[in-house]
Amino acid sequence: MEIEIATIGGYEEVGRQMTAVRAGDDVVVFDMGLNLSQVLIHDNVETEQMHSLDLIDMGAIPDDRVMSDLEGDVKAIVPTHGHLDHIGAISKLAHRYDAPIVATPFTIELVRQQIEGENKFNVNNDLVKMSAGETMSIGERVELEFVNVTHSIIDAINPVLHTPEGAIVYGLDKRMDHTPVIGDPIDMKRFREIGREGEGVLAYIEDCTNAGRKGRTPSEAVARRHLRDVMTSIEDYDGGIVATTFSSHIARVTSLVEFAKDIGRQPVLLGRSMEKYSGTAERLGFVDFPDDVGMYGHRKSVDRTFKRIMNEGKENFLPIVTGHQGEPRAMLTRMGRGETPFELDDGDKVIFSARVIPEPTNEGQRYQSEKLLKMQGARIYDDIHVSGHLREEGHYTMLQALQPKHVVPAHQNLKGFSPYVDLAENQGYALGRDLHVTRNGNMIQLVD
Ligand SMILES: [Zn+2]
Repeated sequence: MEIEIATIGGYEEVGRQMTAVRAGDDVVVFDMGLNLSQVLIHDNVETEQMHSLDLIDMGAIPDDRVMSDLEGDVKAIVPTHGHLDHIGAISKLAHRYDAPIVATPFTIELVRQQIEGENKFNVNNDLVKMSAGETMSIGERVELEFVNVTHSIIDAINPVLHTPEGAIVYGLDKRMDHTPVIGDPIDMKRFREIGREGEGVLAYIEDCTNAGRKGRTPSEAVARRHLRDVMTSIEDYDGGIVATTFSSHIARVTSLVEFAKDIGRQPVLLGRSMEKYSGTAERLGFVDFPDDVGMYGHRKSVDRTFKRIMNEGKENFLPIVTGHQGEPRAMLTRMGRGETPFELDDGDKVIFSARVIPEPTNEGQRYQSEKLLKMQGARIYDDIHVSGHLREEGHYTMLQALQPKHVVPAHQNLKGFSPYVDLAENQGYALGRDLHVTRNGNMIQLVD
């Protein structure tokens, strides 16, 4: 059976991920993501109104025109998890393919919400839920399997395409977490089995985000302990405490809610995306927040809540807000600019349970936001976070588990691939032979 991989997006950047695998006449697309930084760099771009071709020209979504070179039918579109760099282009591209979108329940729900918010295209693809550990037939001789992985968002999987020539494992995005705060540990047992059964693994497409960092990515349990330590240390403070984190990071939000209660404060989730992700996770039964946890997204209800906090006493509340990267329109940035009824006093604490994404725009915005908060007397607790991506030792472990014949580094730019190339060459792979460094819009013919 002919096997071919089209590397469509996310091979020159972290963002707008999209990869297609053709096995005989059947094609499966993994991820259709958005490169948000290419959108935000323009002021006031409303992507909901925009045409795909304009977004492709901006470098915001994958240039999927290369799909016409693949001789087969797309049978499924498979987003691996709910981060925007993996699902953010579905509303712009999926309608061009007569295929269902297959993903885990939480991811499917986020895809559904995104499609509903789309103003330019009618996206009518079937939405099919499939959980980790389940399989689905693709055509007559190919099977799709979801293996449970751990990442900075719940319900993440790595899809595996079982073909007569061996398995294709799509490894984006994960860290190796044996004690995640929500959900099951990464299923390393299944990865080891896949590496040894049948024809073994023909190709492994790998998330190289953190390949240049030594050692191992700590578990979410470590971030949770760090957060508990910080919050316990300010337990007796009788003024304002504010926390911010990735609103899609449900495990972290859950820890914040829990520790707020522990130190005698009422947690309140504020900001549009806070309400969206936490509300969705709770509706689907992934978390069970205490009944009195408020979630407010709209400007008016947020301001009303801030007024209530000021009236009843800041020392009784923990607002958990958006704006960990200093995004100009997010809640914490507005608080820093004094645009909300919440007044910061000298000595009030601001907890960033996040790390700045190392990119000039983010670094600048975050610097500005922090500076504004400090000018009002805020004390900053920074970097209470662990990454969602494998480091060097995790990559070695994956190569040992899967023993793939071919390796394709992804989810980075050329510079970001180089540490992965070093470690894969240490394991006996050779560039140009079975280690395929590639660019957006290329084809890799594995079996012809
Ligand atoms: Zn991700």
